[in-house]
Amino acid sequence: MKIMVSACLLGYNVKYDGKNNLNSELIDFLADYEVISICPEIMGGLTIPRIASEIKDDKVINKDGIDVTKEFYEGAKKTLELAKENNIKVAILKKNSPSCGSNNIYDGTFTHTLVNGDGITAKLLKENGIMVLNEDNYQELKGVLDEE
Ligand code: SF4
Repeated sequence: MKIMVSACLLGYNVKYDGKNNLNSELIDFLADYEVISICPEIMGGLTIPRIASEIKDDKVINKDGIDVTKEFYEGAKKTLELAKENNIKVAILKKNSPSCGSNNIYDGTFTHTLVNGDGITAKLLKENGIMVLNEDNYQELKGVLDEE
């Protein structure tokens, strides 16, 4: 089974600040799976490093006030294409991100305030029937696999 995973969780330095969110427990968990690594923001044409962005009123705006909505949607589109090519049914994506976050995202004020919602890529994957988990709840996948 192939699982799509945020590249930053795998230790790739693709975050806005050029760092990563390496999660060793997740990497151990993934040992039995084929992993498809993605970073939608880079796939959408943004650079490393880049200015942090948040979603506000259906747009993605970076901390300098620049609208990067187009790049975020382009990255989401390419991620979905890759998911379809690889018959992906499950993605484990970084929580709270304006691209990868599922169920919660920052509110657009850059004050670390969370609101209900999905990042641009997580939302598109969900709309296309892909289960999106994050680094806090991916253990739920075991239950799903046990039922298969
Ligand atoms: Fe990580 Fe996703 Fe942000 Fe890329 S877009 S750095 S994979 S959270």
